This record gives sequence, structure tokens and C-alpha cells, in this order.
Amino acid sequence: MTDDCPFCAIVSGDAPASVVYETDDTIAFADIAPVTEGHTLVIPTAHSSGLAGLDPGTGGQLFRVGQEIAAALRASDVPTEGINLFLADGEIAGQEGLHVHLHVIPRTGDDGVTLGFERSEPGRDRLDTIADAVAAEL
Ligand SMILES: [Zn+2]
Repeated sequence: MTDDCPFCAIVSGDAPASVVYETDDTIAFADIAPVTEGHTLVIPTAHSSGLAGLDPGTGGQLFRVGQEIAAALRASDVPTEGINLFLADGEIAGQEGLHVHLHVIPRTGDDGVTLGFERSEPGRDRLDTIADAVAAEL
């Protein structure tokens, strides 16, 4: 826990949250500024600022809980035609806040949400080079 982390304050009970679900190592709660109604955050209860410091088992739990929240959203009265799971690791990737969090964002056809990805066509040789560079670090 860090003193200036709002998510750690939620974990400790020092800050309010609309809690959806808790496990031993995770807690899920309603995003205070939702992209769409039902937007939920899943966080590890132990502070970690990024993926590099996150226990891999806990990372697996984040995804499992994200799946469960997604299923619950689809079963609920919250309008949900699809789901985006989103995790930003690092400020340049769009991470806001110092504590790792997985967004579970319910989607509908008229929600107005856009994902601003542009795709490229690098060709097989470049794909192989990149794949080899990543594989060499595993
Ligand atoms: Zn924290």
C-alpha cells in the first residue's frame, strides 16, 4: 500500500467504492467516471504500479474476475451487447493512476465509444523479426 494511492485507499476501506466483487487478492468496483454504465475496475489488493511488479498469479486472477464481471454484466439489466477488457501499462499507454487496474467496459451499439487504433501491414519478414525479438526474452 502507498499513502497517496486512491485504489489502496479503497482496498483499506479509507475511501468509498461501489464494490461489485472481492476475492482474496482482488477487488472489483464501479469506475467513478464510467465510460459506459456498468464500467467496472478490477484491481489487485496489493499495490503494484505496473505489470512488471504484479504477481503473475494475481494477474491471472484479474483476468478471471474480469471474465466473471463480464458474464454478470451480460446477465444483468445493465445494457451489454459486448465487452471490452482494457489494461493500460504505463502512462504512454493511457494508464491513469498508479495502481494496476483492468477495465471491464460493457458496450452497446449506440454507446458512442471509439477505439482509436490504426493498423499497419508490416509484412511477414518484419512480423518474424519482431516475434523473434520478443521470443528471445521469454
Ligand atoms: Zn495502490
